[in-house]
Amino acid sequence: MTTKIIIGPARSGKTEMCYRHIRAQDHFREKWIIVPDQIQSRLAVAQLAAAGGALGVAVGTFSSFYRHLLETASGDSVQLEELDVQRMLRVLVEEAATTGKLPHTAAIAGKPGFVDVLRDQVRELIQADIPPQKFMQMAASAGSELMQELSFLYERYQEVKHKHRRHDLEDTGRIALAQLCNQPEGKTGPACIVVDGFDSFSGLQLAILRELDRCAESLWITLPGDADMQRPVFRRFVRARKRVLESIPDAEIQVLSAGTGTPLTEAVGTRLFEDHPEPFAAAPPVVMREVRSPAQEAREALRWLKALILREQIPVERCALVVPALQRYRPGLVSAAAEFGIPLAFHSKRVLGESPLTAALLALCSLPLKNWPRHDLLTVLSSPYFDFSICGLQASDASAYESVSRYAQIVEGLPEWMAGLEQLIRPRQTEDTLISVWAAFPQGDEARRLRDGLSSLAGLLQVPSGKQSFSFWSEWLTALIAAMKLESRICAEGEAEALAGIATILRDLLQPVPGAASVCSYVRFLEEFQRALEAAHWEVEPARNAVSVLQPAQARSGAYHALVVLGLSEGLLPEIEREDPFLPDAIREQLGMEPRLGREQRGLFYQVLTRADRYLLLSRPYLSDVGAAWEASPYWRECVKLFPGAAERVRADMPRPLADAASREELLQWSARRGSLEEVETSALGESWQAYLHASRILAARARGEQSSYDGWVQELQVELKGWFPPDYIWSASALETYGTCPHLFFVTRVLGLEALVPPEPGYDALQLGNMLHELLEGSYRTAAQPEEAESVIAALHEISGRVFERAPEKYGFKPNALWPVQQTQWIALLENTILELQKRQRGWKPLALERAFGMRGEPPLALQLEGREVFLRGIVDRIDQDADGYLCVIDYKTGSASQDARALDEGIRLQLPLYAMAVAGMGFEGEAREGFYWSIPQARRGSLMLSKYKPDIPELEGIESAGAFDAARVHIARTLSGIQQGRFPPKPPQRGCPSYCPAAVWCWRHSPGRGG
Ligand code: SF4
Repeated sequence: MTTKIIIGPARSGKTEMCYRHIRAQDHFREKWIIVPDQIQSRLAVAQLAAAGGALGVAVGTFSSFYRHLLETASGDSVQLEELDVQRMLRVLVEEAATTGKLPHTAAIAGKPGFVDVLRDQVRELIQADIPPQKFMQMAASAGSELMQELSFLYERYQEVKHKHRRHDLEDTGRIALAQLCNQPEGKTGPACIVVDGFDSFSGLQLAILRELDRCAESLWITLPGDADMQRPVFRRFVRARKRVLESIPDAEIQVLSAGTGTPLTEAVGTRLFEDHPEPFAAAPPVVMREVRSPAQEAREALRWLKALILREQIPVERCALVVPALQRYRPGLVSAAAEFGIPLAFHSKRVLGESPLTAALLALCSLPLKNWPRHDLLTVLSSPYFDFSICGLQASDASAYESVSRYAQIVEGLPEWMAGLEQLIRPRQTEDTLISVWAAFPQGDEARRLRDGLSSLAGLLQVPSGKQSFSFWSEWLTALIAAMKLESRICAEGEAEALAGIATILRDLLQPVPGAASVCSYVRFLEEFQRALEAAHWEVEPARNAVSVLQPAQARSGAYHALVVLGLSEGLLPEIEREDPFLPDAIREQLGMEPRLGREQRGLFYQVLTRADRYLLLSRPYLSDVGAAWEASPYWRECVKLFPGAAERVRADMPRPLADAASREELLQWSARRGSLEEVETSALGESWQAYLHASRILAARARGEQSSYDGWVQELQVELKGWFPPDYIWSASALETYGTCPHLFFVTRVLGLEALVPPEPGYDALQLGNMLHELLEGSYRTAAQPEEAESVIAALHEISGRVFERAPEKYGFKPNALWPVQQTQWIALLENTILELQKRQRGWKPLALERAFGMRGEPPLALQLEGREVFLRGIVDRIDQDADGYLCVIDYKTGSASQDARALDEGIRLQLPLYAMAVAGMGFEGEAREGFYWSIPQARRGSLMLSKYKPDIPELEGIESAGAFDAARVHIARTLSGIQQGRFPPKPPQRGCPSYCPAAVWCWRHSPGRGG
């Protein structure tokens, strides 16, 4: 009897027994240890070395064993790389879809995930050793359309492979099996094979074991379980044992009893999932924590490990985290580990297509295809991965191009970029007032350099139209990568591996796949490249002295002094099982494939928990992403039974011993919550402590409502403010209104000169629309034969509107969008309505003057005597009407409807009307301005504020019966100028909420989004 099946519970010594056996074999004969994956392969090598080493023992997975067998096999078949398999399948799916062979999956066949699913199915079918014909017959008799389409694709895939003499990774197993079958009768194969750590086998693996039983001198297979397999945790392994015994019926069976591990492993190994488990009393080594979110779980877990590493001297490499749904937990783990200074070793491959490097490369290659969109170009230019020196550009140029895009309102298009830069190259004659505005844009030689740089980049990215061979495109892209010097730009962990992965894909893409066309377009090539990146994996060699981060299936072997299992909430661990839509479990059973339902994940959980020698932390999130209660998983409840008293709910804001803080940041945060740092030696905290003290002073001052520089009171700037706003400064109404809206908004926009950058979009913005409508109204009334008659004004409107709209995009600087022609018609209709309504409202009044400036365009400013000083003001009055008695009425057009009531004047956020009415007095008209109102153009309606009826509700004017709008305006101007002079700029959110255009919204501590922002 040379084949032995060793069955025993976790930690019963199966592996050690096998290693003793293999070490006792002849040093010079071939010996193999076959394990399920790379992690276990690394562990096996380490364990073997720790046991004294063994000469001539190869350690690897079934795949490495197949490759070893194939080294001696003859044949002219070429192995397909994984990328080629994916490409082949994609070509076959497209071919089948276009020829109507996929009527039921046609809708999803073009989705990127379809080929991935198909690949998994094909892999499983080959591993289960199912011939295409057999599968087709089963699909036909099962009557499942999905299965029939899958069987068609499976059959085609196998057919094309064989026709072109190719084999895939799974086929290597079949070829290896054939190789084994060819071994002469008798024990002519390897001296000793140990198959360790498996809890299931594919059909192909069972066939290999059957042949090894025949030809190997000694074959030992370990399986988890016990003599009768009645315990719930062993149900998962019953099937594996049954199938192995069916394949090797004469094998000797040896059953081991539970080993003599630590009290913790003994308790988990013998009592977990039992109906009434004897509680494990030694609670301190086991902790169960319910915390709010996965991110908090990650912090708790790493803090717990750090305490053990420092206080109990647990070596960092003897610690592990077992994480279901790694995608969800990875960001929290990475950030907490960086903060706590704990090295992590992720043992999982990452999708190459998700690397930032590949995202940057795809963005660069796609620029011409996407027509040079603004956002993409700026992202590419500011990417740290590219060196644009070959084009005469630097990374800092991205902000210059951003300015250009705003100057020329560029949304996309290389010609648009070039035209915008050309405009900036030309010398500019401009009004003095605009010099500071133009200074913000690159001009002259600088604009020329940017134009040449962009032109050079466009040359690099210029691709021949039409179809080219795969090798052409692949070499073109390789040359681009070299020109951008990617190799010299990468520096972060794993980027070298990612770049190597990209290079491999480009090498693989040199040839078309069997059955596909030999030439393709650039679009198609990029599509193939992108799909290949999405299908390829990127692996960083895990660090040795680090905490291992494992997924449950990777944590079935090894031993750790401190183990954390996260995610014990519903749906995470155990994961939700779903039936395979293509191959239901009933069919899988018939085909000898692993079921998708009833996977008995308890067995896996049992294996994972038994890896903990000394300390075990179990945790779960109790709130979902949307803040709903998250139920505990059934495994959590089982653990509560086994470890009574170990579970605790931890809230992020609960007080904690400062000694448990895992980082300075935590220490400061926790001590702030306690209000004291008495237990901590603050000198050890260095600059962090000083920064903390500074921040706490700021927050305390703001909370007390102190008039400090931490809340916009900058008296220390009074001298500078006098220089910026000298006594002869000419104020605009809008500047004063800005201060009335929020003093800090004034400081940010008018003192610091900041503006919220809004990316250009096709179409006009509110300001451009306002300017256009003002021009149309002014032009219509000015050119109308009878400006007091609406019909005449409307006729004039029709006369001039074509010209105004035609010039508007260039004049006001916007790119018309597809709606522009429709918008013109709509605005004409609205203007007609406004003209008609305005005439009804102004019965008895006649237009007297239009667009009258003061304080600008060479006109003298309005000079107001205020508190012993003269204040100068400027503006443009939209329209002045006069009635039969000679009285004047000021009208201010608005394109919105907000803030046109008396309250807006009371609050000082609308001052135009009274100021303009005062200014009219100095314009030389006969008559007094007694009336005035705002007029909403789109609504064709007057605002509720009427100058003649306004009664101020302002503390300074309380009890003054004769006070009106002019007095209110004076009060506000005096208050505003005094505030500006004294450096009073506290943030004061407007009652309607902060405006969306406030540049401070991103950092302002009083920001209050409302209707306006
Ligand atoms: S965000 Fe609001 S409160 Fe802050 S400065 Fe802007 S408008 Fe004022």
